[in-house]
Parts: sequence; structure tokens; C-alpha cells
Amino acid sequence: MSNADPVEIEKFSQLAHKWWDPNSEFKPLHEINPLRLNYIDRQAGLAGKTVLDIGCGGGILSESMAGMGAVVTGIDLSDKALQVAKLHLLESGRQVDYRKIAVEDMAAECPDSFDIVTCMEMLEHVPDPDSVITACAKLVKPDGWVFFSTLNRNPKSYLFAVIGAEYILKMLPRGTHDYAKFLKPSEVAQSCRNAGLTVADLTGMSYNPISRIYSLGKDTSVNYMVACRSDDRG
Ligand code: SAH
Repeated sequence: MSNADPVEIEKFSQLAHKWWDPNSEFKPLHEINPLRLNYIDRQAGLAGKTVLDIGCGGGILSESMAGMGAVVTGIDLSDKALQVAKLHLLESGRQVDYRKIAVEDMAAECPDSFDIVTCMEMLEHVPDPDSVITACAKLVKPDGWVFFSTLNRNPKSYLFAVIGAEYILKMLPRGTHDYAKFLKPSEVAQSCRNAGLTVADLTGMSYNPISRIYSLGKDTSVNYMVACRSDDRG
């Protein structure tokens, strides 16, 4: 059985044509992109590294990492998102190898292959996030880096990510996020440890609804990123 929710994939396919419109439903991804790009680069150094971007969608993060000199492969299960990602390369002149393949299949095909694995804003859309984290740990080289970002699960994240973003500010379409699938940092950290990853850093990404600006910091109550090292199995 595949670890993908067809309803989730269809949701992103329906919106795919808007992926590169910075004022569309994907506005939050465009706004957080420089923050997460710098974060990944600061921790792991992107230039010259092989990177696998899992759940790459239309390629906002994949392309920007390629722009920093990384050799990037992007995988997703939405045909439409991948088509948009490939088309956008013609515009940007960047190089990313986009493929439709499940992360678990990719892990079976090419274990220990990437210096850096990124899986951003995807864990909260899959039936079995543990299985994705385990696959990421297989895909990364010994001594490599794995980055996750997702939504925390608590009353504040419900208020900000569901009520605020979908109903009040209308930044996202209703139904974008399913609160029950949000993950506490402790849960992601536990899954990482079970998979043989060591959590090196946890950073919050918070949104100020007044200034409408995102920033990185200690506040992990809504959006957050986790940086992991793979155990040196060499
Ligand atoms: N990571 C990108 C896009 C996030 S949107 C970014 O942060 O900019 C979530 C993406 O996850 C969508 O493109 C959706 O198609 C993809 N996705 C959802 N479930 C998936 C699964 N099981 N396997 C691969 N991709 C999946």
C-alpha cells in the first residue's frame, strides 16, 4: 500500500498552475523560502552538495537550492505539480532533476546517496509520517543532513494555521490542513531517533499577523524546522 493520500495529492494538483504566483495560495511558501534556504545553507552548506527534495511540489525550494550551487533532485507524487516545476526551469534556466516516485521506493532504489535530504511542509499531508522519516534516513549519506518542516499540534497552531490562515486571513483554501495530522516537535524527534537520525537543531518559523512577516526564532508553537544528522554508519 502506498503511503500517500490521493485526496491530498489532488488538492495540490488542482492548485498547481498557481505555484509560482507569489500572491496565490502558495504565498506562504514563497515568503518562508528565503528563511529556510538560508537555514539549510547555514547548517549544511549547499554549494556542490547532492540534495533530494521530497514533496517538492512546483519546485520553490528545489530551484532555490539549485541556485545556491546544489545538485538537486525533486520528487513528488502530483503529476501536475511536477509539470509546473519542469516548465518553470525553462524560465529560470536552473537545473533540477524532477521525478514522480514515492520516497519509500526512492529509498529502496538509491540508499545512502544524498548529502542533504529536505522534506518541507509535507509530513502533515501523509498517512504515515514515520515511514517518510525512515525513508529519508535511508536516502541520506552517512554523516549527511536531513531537514524537515511541519506544523506543531496545539491550540495555538489550530488557531493560526487553520482558523487564522484558512478562515480569517484567507491565505490558504479551507481544508488545506488537517489538524489531526500536525506533529509535535517531540514526535518528529522521536521518529528521527528511531530512524537513526540525531536532531541537531530545532527552529521556529513564526508569522506575525500584524506585520505579515515571517521570522526564524525560538517560537516553535506553529511552524518549525528540524535539522538532523545521519549517524556515521561508515
Ligand atoms: N515542499 C514544497 C511543497 C509543499 S506542499 C515546499 O515546501 O515548497 C506539499 C507537497 O507534498 C505537495 O506538492 C504534494 O503533492 C506533496 N505530497 C503530499 N503527499 C505526498 C506523498 N505521499 N509523497 C510525495 N509527495 C507528497
